[in-house]
Amino acid sequence: MRTREQYIQGLSKMNRNLYSNGEKIDRLDERQQGVINVMGLTFDAVWDPESRDLCTALSHLTGETINRFNHIHQNSGDLHKKQDMTRFLCNKVGQCIQRCMGIDAANAVHAVSFEAQKLSGAKTAYYENWLKWLGRFQSEDLVGCCAQTDVKGERLKRPGQQTDLDMYLRVVEERNDGIVVRGSKVHISEASIADEILVVPTRALTPGEGSYAICFAVPADHEGVKQVVHFHNPRKREHFQRGIEYGYTDSYIIFDDCFVPWDRVFLCGETQHGGIAALLFALFHRHSYSGCKPAMLDYVIGLAAMAAEINGIEKTPHVREMLSELIMTGELGYAAGYTASALGKNEVYFPGAGFVPYGPGSCIPHSIYANVGRCLSGEAVFHEQEILCNIAGGLPATFPYEKDLTNPETKALLEKYLRRNPEIPIQEQIKFWLSFVDFALSSASGSMLYGAYHGGGSPIMEQIAITSQYDIESKKEIVRKIAGMLPKASK
Ligand SMILES: Cc1cc2nc3c(=O)[nH]c(=O)nc-3n(C[C@H](O)[C@H](O)[C@H](O)COP(=O)(O)OP(=O)(O)OC[C@H]3O[C@@H](n4cnc5c(N)ncnc54)[C@H](O)[C@@H]3O)c2cc1C
Repeated sequence: MRTREQYIQGLSKMNRNLYSNGEKIDRLDERQQGVINVMGLTFDAVWDPESRDLCTALSHLTGETINRFNHIHQNSGDLHKKQDMTRFLCNKVGQCIQRCMGIDAANAVHAVSFEAQKLSGAKTAYYENWLKWLGRFQSEDLVGCCAQTDVKGERLKRPGQQTDLDMYLRVVEERNDGIVVRGSKVHISEASIADEILVVPTRALTPGEGSYAICFAVPADHEGVKQVVHFHNPRKREHFQRGIEYGYTDSYIIFDDCFVPWDRVFLCGETQHGGIAALLFALFHRHSYSGCKPAMLDYVIGLAAMAAEINGIEKTPHVREMLSELIMTGELGYAAGYTASALGKNEVYFPGAGFVPYGPGSCIPHSIYANVGRCLSGEAVFHEQEILCNIAGGLPATFPYEKDLTNPETKALLEKYLRRNPEIPIQEQIKFWLSFVDFALSSASGSMLYGAYHGGGSPIMEQIAITSQYDIESKKEIVRKIAGMLPKASK
């Protein structure tokens, strides 16, 4: 396993293919420091005795100890630990820990490449290629991101019906030594600090859409790959230092006729498995949300409770009601994820056939509970902001700038008029409100909310998964029996 320093050293050696705001930038650009700091926590955790057991696993390939973010879940216990590791690490930063996309995509491709290789027309030895890639991913402790979301162009048209066929990433040429791909994957979190990009399809595919049914991996600085990076960094501080300097990035990844050698291709043309790859990444990712969303709720509960304490209103009935609402959302999301872990199996839902065994035996979270938990907590993020706004009042919206808080002409006056709870030193109250502003009112917070709402698929996608996979007929049967109606089959 690597240390944070070794990881950063690796980034420093990568080719320059990052673009932002008109410039070509380095992996270690100042704007990347926050996001690198957050990722660094996933390396620190494996060397810390407190978190070593939670954040490491034994590789099922080699028996070696590896970072859990590079592990293929072998049983329910692994899924529980991934969920708890995610919550534990997100608690260190109050928001996303950023490394779950890699583990979620890896677990999806692990199962898909195994099934696809069994097909008679398979273009290459998908699963063998995959195991070779996975072995390196684990032994070199690499950071993976997942590029699933295509730009999608005209929303109501399928990939092959688009005016511009490149709106979904596709194979434009097959050669003896590999494939050439063209398209763009968007909003790809932490791609700017990843070692590898794992690519999976966005959606279910029909038999004519084989050129879109592709899974592969390329280095994040691979030739033919350009990343246009968006930064979500809170405002720089000079006087009131944060406990942790954090930041986030998302990239538009452009595959500009990018060559991928066959040994990095894990699916190429098998539409049925392309759809399963899309579904499985989303499923594993929604399960990860049952770790990170409760952690974000932990932070929101802390912010709401502390704002109430500073404002002297923590005992009022409306604050209690709002706090209990936050606690219920976070813990119900966690409980749904916990159940999804406990009921995990090597099964996937196929329309018309129900849940059937899939993959080499690795463990897949229960789909209904993973989707229910994600949907419940994901859709709540804007309401959580409403609660924070309600409790805080208007103060965070107009909070003075650092230099006004330190300017000798205004410092004492601002401290006098900002003071609310005489029991809490004013410097502590100021640090709290500055953090509150970072989380709820900064340029970074809007992007985080959109990510929390849409990441892993918009709410409608979860609702489709839930209603198409849930056994609604059996519920009608309960009603029929109680109403004294005839069972459906004997009508
Ligand atoms: C901050 C952030 C981080 C992200 N990180 C990643 C990442 O790491 N990797 C990754 O692959 N993706 C990532 N995503 C992408 C995320 O998965 C998508 O935003 C999500 O799937 C929604 O897709 P979209 O943004 O294209 O929205 P759209 O699909 O355009 O959705 C907009 C609206 O249109 C509706 N709509 C869209 N298509 C149809 C249709 N055919 N019929 C009816 N209604 C439709 C939707 O329901 C929604 O209401 C991230 C997104 C954000 C904001």
